[in-house]
Amino acid sequence: MLSPQVVQRVGCDGGVMHLREDAHGNVLDLGRKRRTVSAAQKRALATRDPQCQFPGCPHRAFLEPHHIVHWQDGGETNLSNLVRLCSFHHVCLHEGGYRVELGANRQSHRFFDREGRRIHVVPTPPRDIAGFESIVAMNHDLAIDRATNAPQWNGSPVDHHELIRDLCWLEDQLN
Ligand SMILES: [Zn+2]
Ligand SMILES: [Zn+2]
Repeated sequence: MLSPQVVQRVGCDGGVMHLREDAHGNVLDLGRKRRTVSAAQKRALATRDPQCQFPGCPHRAFLEPHHIVHWQDGGETNLSNLVRLCSFHHVCLHEGGYRVELGANRQSHRFFDREGRRIHVVPTPPRDIAGFESIVAMNHDLAIDRATNAPQWNGSPVDHHELIRDLCWLEDQLN
């Protein structure tokens, strides 16, 4: 039994039907006429989205067109409603709770995680940390110096049996 999310993903572009292109070979906006993406649209998408459009994803092979507004929800098979994704991120959107929206200019896409937080291509740095000096200042009271966290290990090879025995002993002490 397939879940509704799986049915929706498989239906996103099943590639079942083939669209005949017009004399100019550039039928790029199919509206509600066809659910599947035409060959001409696939070529145009490959030029516009040479890699998976999920922020930070470098995949360039085996990309799948995705309807931003799902076909079942009235989405059109137009270039502006399509985005190319790798199969992993395609699953994230259909079954993982992730979301993509058209940007205000209908050019850029905006991705959101399952908590509804925007996923940026370059993450915004934490607001309160402006650099190394401020990190040092924030931790001033901890008296951290170059010896803090220095290993006590003398460089001899690790005896794994002894290590596991000590870990087991430690666990016994804690229980
Ligand atoms: Zn899809
Ligand atoms: Zn991807």
